[in-house]
This record gives sequence, structure tokens and C-alpha cells, in this order.
Amino acid sequence: MSAAPVIAALLLAVFVSPSAAAWRPPVTGALTRPFAVTTNPFEAGQHRGIDLDAAPGAPVRAPCAGRVLVAGRVGTSGGVVTLRCGGWRVTHLPLATITVHAGTSIARGARLGTVGRGSAHAGLHLGVRREGERFGYVDPLRFLTPTPHHTSSTPRPRTSRPPRLPATAACRDPSRRAGTDAARRTGTDAARAVAGVARAGARARRRGRAVARRDQDSNPAPHPGDG
Ligand SMILES: [Zn+2]
Repeated sequence: MSAAPVIAALLLAVFVSPSAAAWRPPVTGALTRPFAVTTNPFEAGQHRGIDLDAAPGAPVRAPCAGRVLVAGRVGTSGGVVTLRCGGWRVTHLPLATITVHAGTSIARGARLGTVGRGSAHAGLHLGVRREGERFGYVDPLRFLTPTPHHTSSTPRPRTSRPPRLPATAACRDPSRRAGTDAARRTGTDAARAVAGVARAGARARRRGRAVARRDQDSNPAPHPGDG
């Protein structure tokens, strides 16, 4: 039996992640404010998600099937519903009413509640963060439009012999490319690159904790609902 079908299936699984194309917008309105995160998503002026045009009272529906992690009022964010869909935390705010309960599983399209009033966002705010990574915010538009798993934010290696990083590591935060660059310079194997990525990740997490502490010192509720 030829190995070609198996290889094709594996490539499909890596580059056409089903979850990256199967979400639906939580409301019907257009984009009013884009995702804007540089290296530190907690600095002033960052926007850790997108805002979608929605009038107060409009229904909010689950973009993806998953489990309800948070359903209630959170600090100054008002009503918040956070779902876990695969490896992602998906947050909706502000909500006026909430019709789901934490701990339950829901289908894609299930009604979560209704849009609330708030001045911090232009309509409904939708945030997506990789589970377990405080700095793991990504642009939710990646999930709402069918795009390849890799985006322009993850440039391809320029050399003819790219390091063989696992796909999941290579797709993470661009700030973690330190390991990739090290491997490219030395031309060594994936193990060294992976170790570099792990070190960069640990540094990023330490920075995240330090920033989080500063955030909480200066503001008791620093956008608490978005992840
Ligand atoms: Zn927003």
C-alpha cells in the first residue's frame, strides 16, 4: 500500500485545522475594532480581541461547540461568558443577560445571552486565548474566516533546511521564535530548537506573571473577563 494517502491525510490535519474554519460569528454585526496586540497584550492601548457591531439586547450565540468555563458578572466587565473550545478560551462581553451555566457543554450556535451596554468596547467583544498561556491571545478573525492554519504572522524559514519544529510549537506566539532562530543559525536538530522554544516560553510566562502583578496593583480589575 502506498504511503501517499497517509502523508496527505497528515498534511491536511496539520495545515487545515478543522477548528480554524468552523466557527461562526457570535453576533451578525460587522467588525468595529480589530485585534491589536504587540509583544505584551497587557500594555496600554492593546486590544485582546475584536469588537463586533451589536445593539444592546441582541442575541449572542456560541461561535464554537465547547464547555462553559465562566458565566456571570466579572468585575467591571459586566456579564461575561467564557467557553473552552478545543484548546482555546473564547470570551464574550459585555452581556446583559446570560442563559448558560458554568460546567455545561453547549453546541455551536447555542444562545449564550444578550449583548449588554458598555463603554470599553464597540459592541460585543470577542476574545480568544490559547488555554494555559496568559500571553496566548490570537486574532479571533482567524477562526471566523476559513484560512490556512499558518498565517503571515508566522513567517516561513528562509533557509532550504528548516528546523523540524512540531507544528503546534511553530504556530505559537511569534515572540517564541528565539528557538527557531537558534536552530537555523547552528543548523542543528529539532531537539535543540524545541528546548529553545521551551526556554522562551518560560521567560514569557515569567514576564506575564510580573506584568499581571503590576496590572493588578494599578487596576484591581484589569479587563478580567477576557480570558
Ligand atoms: Zn473589545
